[in-house]
This record gives sequence, C-alpha cells and structure tokens, in this order.
Amino acid sequence: MPTASDTARLTQLLQHYWGYDSFRPHQEQAISQVVGGGDCLLVLPTGGGKSLCYQLPALVRDGLTVVVSPLIALMDDQVAAAQNIGIAAAALHSQRSPAERQESMREARSGRLRLLYISPERLLIGDILPQVRDHCCLVAVDEAHCVSHWGHDFRPEYRQLHDAFAQLDASIPRMALTATATPEVQRDMVHYLGLRDPAHFVGHPDRANLMYRSIPRRRVAEQIAQVAQRHPEGGGIVYALTRKEVEKLAQELRSRGIDAQAYHAGMEADHRRRVQQDFVDETVPVVVATVAFGMGIDRSNVRWVVHAGCPRSLEHYQQESGRAGRDGLPAECVLLFGAGDLATHRHFIDVDAPPPDRRQALEDQLRAMARFATTPVCRHQLLSEYFGAIYPPPGQEAQGEAGCGACDVCLGETTILDDAMAEDVARKLIAVVWHTKGGFGLAHVVAVALGRNTVGIRRHRHDQLSVHGILSHCDEATLRTWLDQLIVQGLLYQERSDGFALLRMSQEGKTLCRDGGRVRLSQPQHRKGRKAAGGEARSTGSSQDVDEAAWQGVDKGLFDALRSMRMRIAKADGVPPYVIFHDTTLRELARVAPTQLWELEGVKGVGQRKSERYGAAVIATVQEYQGR
Ligand code: ADP
Ligand code: ZN
Repeated sequence: MPTASDTARLTQLLQHYWGYDSFRPHQEQAISQVVGGGDCLLVLPTGGGKSLCYQLPALVRDGLTVVVSPLIALMDDQVAAAQNIGIAAAALHSQRSPAERQESMREARSGRLRLLYISPERLLIGDILPQVRDHCCLVAVDEAHCVSHWGHDFRPEYRQLHDAFAQLDASIPRMALTATATPEVQRDMVHYLGLRDPAHFVGHPDRANLMYRSIPRRRVAEQIAQVAQRHPEGGGIVYALTRKEVEKLAQELRSRGIDAQAYHAGMEADHRRRVQQDFVDETVPVVVATVAFGMGIDRSNVRWVVHAGCPRSLEHYQQESGRAGRDGLPAECVLLFGAGDLATHRHFIDVDAPPPDRRQALEDQLRAMARFATTPVCRHQLLSEYFGAIYPPPGQEAQGEAGCGACDVCLGETTILDDAMAEDVARKLIAVVWHTKGGFGLAHVVAVALGRNTVGIRRHRHDQLSVHGILSHCDEATLRTWLDQLIVQGLLYQERSDGFALLRMSQEGKTLCRDGGRVRLSQPQHRKGRKAAGGEARSTGSSQDVDEAAWQGVDKGLFDALRSMRMRIAKADGVPPYVIFHDTTLRELARVAPTQLWELEGVKGVGQRKSERYGAAVIATVQEYQGR
C-alpha cells in the first residue's frame, strides 16, 4: 500500500513535469505497483493516459524505463514530447543512424537517460538489455495485445520478448499496456510476456467524449463533407477499404474544397511519409486512407473519423475511430454502412482460407461489427458491452431518458420502427425477394418494391408481380437501409454470382414470413422534423451542446492566435504542434488569457519546463491580441 507521502510525491511529479493536478483512473495505482517492484497489466482506452504510467516511475526511481513499442513512426515524437517536459529520452530503431544509436546507448549506459524507446526487432537482435540492466527500473511493453493470436494485430516477434527479458535482473518489474484486450488477450499478455503475478488494471472502455453515428452509406463524398464542415478547426481521417476508393474519395473531397490527401500502401514510401508527417504537423487537415494509416498517428486533436467502409471487427473500429479526440475534447466518429462491405470481408476470409477455428472467430467478429452498425441501440452501450463492460459506467447511471446524449440513436437521429410495422415491412421485402426468385441484386429488389417501371423490370415482367409497388410509399434510401438490416439479421443473404451480389431468402426469412416473429428495423431521420413513420423520435440535448460546453469561456480569436503561435514554435523546433501544447491546454490558455507568468501555473498541461520555455511567447501573444 502506498503511503500518503508516496502519493504526495507522485502528485508533485505529475504537477511539476506535466502540469496536471490529479491522476486519471488507474494511473496512480499502476505507477505505485511498478514503483513498488511488482508487475502490472494495464488496459486503458486510447487517450486514457497510458504513457504517463511508464514515464513517471523512471522519475520516481531515478532509473531507466525501457519502452518496447512497434510504432517506430511514433517514437521520435514521443521522445520529443518527453524531452520537451524535461525528461531525458531517446529512441533506438532502424531509422536512426548508427552514430545516433551509439550516442543513445552511451547516454543509457551512463545512467543519465530516463526513457529508452525501442522496437521489438532491435531489442531482439542486440545485446542492449544487458548493457542497461544496472540502471533499468522498468520494462514497459506498449501495444501488448500484439502478443496474442486473438488480438487484432498479432506480431510473432512479441512472443520472443519473454526470452529477451530473461537477460535482465529478475527484480525489474514489467508492465504490459494496451488500449483494448478481451480476457483471452489479457491471459496471453500475462503468459507470453512472462508477467509474474501482475496486478490488473482495466479501465472502462467507453470514450465519453466521442459522438458515434452509424448511418447508411449513400452519397459518400457528400456525407463526409458534411462531417468535415461540422469541424472547421480540426483534423479528420477517412478510412476506406480499397486503394481505388481512397484515391477517388480524396479527389472528390478536394473538388468540394476540402484539403484532403490520399494515403495507402500502394503509394511510394517517401510520398506516404510526407502525407503522414504533414497531417501530424497540421499542415494537411484531412487524410483519406486505408487501414495502413494511423498506427503511427499520435495527433491528439483529430476531431473526426469517418469510415467510408465497414471495418472487419469492432476491435478495428474501436482502434480506428479511437484516433479521434485523444485530447479528451469532443470529437465525432461516423460509420457509413452498406451491407455490401460484409460480402467483401467474407470474400477476403474465403481467399485467406484460415483454419476452421480462426474462420469462426473472424466470422463472429464480422457479425458483431454488423450488429453494431445496424442495431438501433445506444452505440456507446453496444461498444462497452462488446468489450465486456456495463454501460453506463458505474457511478454514471443518472443519464435517464436522454441516453448517452452522444450517439445517433440517443439523439433521435435514428429511430426505431415499432414491432408491428417492422415485421410488416420485413415480410413485404422478403416477399419481393421470394417472388423474384433470388436471382437479382439489391437495386432491382428495391425497384420492384417501389413499383418502378424500368427496362429490367419490364423485361422480366416483374411489373406483373403482386408485390410490384408493395412499398411504393417509401423512398429508395430507406428501402436500401432496411434490406441491409435484414441481411445483417440473417433473414436475407447475398450470394456472389458472376461478380453480382444476388439477394436470397434464408431459412430464417422463410420462417418469419410463415410464422411471424420479431424484427428490429431502424430508420435515419432527416435533420429537420424528425418524426419517423411508426417511429418515436426522442428529443434530447443536441450534439452541439457537448461541443459548445468544451468551448465555454474560450475566446476563439485568442485561440486562433495561440494556435498560430504554436505552429510557429513547432516549425522552428521541428516537432509536431501537439508536442508544444495540446488543444485542451490551448483552449484553457484562451480562457485564462494570462498576461503574467504566475497565471500559467494553474493551467492544465503547463508544467515547470513548458512554463519556462513558452511562457513568454504565450504572454506576448495574449498581449498582442488584447492590444488590437
Ligand atoms: P494513451 O496512450 O492511453 O492513448 P496518452 O498517454 O497519449 O494516452 O494520453 C492522452 C492525453 O491525456 C495526453 O494529452 C496526456 O498528456 C493526457 N493526460 C494523461 N494523464 C493525464 C492526467 N492525469 N490529467 C490530465 N491529462 C492527462
Ligand atoms: Zn447513445
């Protein structure tokens, strides 16, 4: 048990170096555990503050923390950020020159260094650990889920870390960190990294500052542009499934006046690096990318993430959407869903031909993803439950009628059809599929249900069918959404034939038509006059309220002036802007408008070192702004 004086010491370091006045959930316990010499497993969602948990022990113990991380692209920024608050840090990876690496090792051996970031590959080839064992006070393994087959990015080299650690004194504690880990993955982390009777600290997975929306995909570029327009001051990421789609969307967004760059594995390495760097440096506001983008992104003020295609698991969705709002300020995550994506992922699974148990796991993950996308239940709740946590988090049950207030369902933007109407619609749509004998795609089925008179319909004499026009009072977009939802619920399925996805009726669909049953259907509402056919629109606080609260008392003009100041310093120092100040700190500064050095003391995110380095520039900016 840490004593009161231990706690006071930790808090003092937190204040001095980081400028924060209190710990986030689990941080203090995790730090105390390793400072006391014990092993520790820490699962905290993105933005939960994991890095501090391995950075602070090195300061307490006056020793060296070795941080194993697969994210080479991030290391240099993390080193810069640590140095910037006065912690001696270095990185060893393949993109450092031999001379730089030697210099870092000299520093480490001398005992001056507090943090040494290293890639697993480098750790495994070298004799690095024996050289630093005298000073080492902690080894931390970041992204530790990579050690598990069940995780979403298995890396075989992680399995060898256990042996490498054996070169260290047995008394040196080990810490394993990740943003998401199911109980299975946690077991693997303990086993394969050789954690000895570790304390487990598992944070609640919910990201309360994120607004989730899952809406049917229609005119993608237009839908993305609408999201971008809601966040004029912040960065955004668009994820698409294929390179072609990436190129196309980037082009379309540019033609709508949005400064978007493409990023995918097919691009030349230099070009790709430049796009990534420009995004981190905030000179490019929007990147359209395949999932290859993001592992190396630490930009904390990403204000929105749109998925133009559905990811293959909720683990992926949580990770990718989680790149929004790392600074804790409100941010928006939009999933544009079309059931066709599921067929694409199934096709990839088929091509991969994994062993049966792995296939089963992949298919289960895909089903869970599809359910999240189409079930009209609070998205925060669905995500939390998937990761094994109850929602709302304990202690925050008092949400009442309004729900989370931060998803399309709770905000009444997506409404639920009542049971009788949902069943009626489902029966009618399935009947159209049945009457067209499973030989047609989604567009044709929709056209028949609407009662259209197209060439295709006349050719197949489908205008003669009793179901022609059976849902003629609905609009096309709604019917497409409903068909998607019936596919996700297994009442219909798609089968590929000659490159076409044909819509078929499943056994479950047949049973529903014969015996009736429960179907859940939802419908997106137009922004104005949200009253669904058969649906109840709940009226709640709007998402804008959340946004406005985060800007409360902030002088936006001063914020912009401070942002320009930050950009100038970042350029001069050759580091990303967030290394200078996070957006949270910038907003706080624009609230306080300090004109004296002492006024900086209480500002969150301004520790001793930053106050000394940037205090004068901040005050000059405030004074110049006020003098106008
Ligand atoms: P993670 O690695 O878990 O995604 P980070 O370590 O990058 O999260 O921290 C996310 C943000 O939260 C950073 O800006 C960090 O400085 C900030 N932060 C961490 N701990 C605290 C704290 N105790 N109080 C306020 N902000 C914190
Ligand atoms: Zn909700």
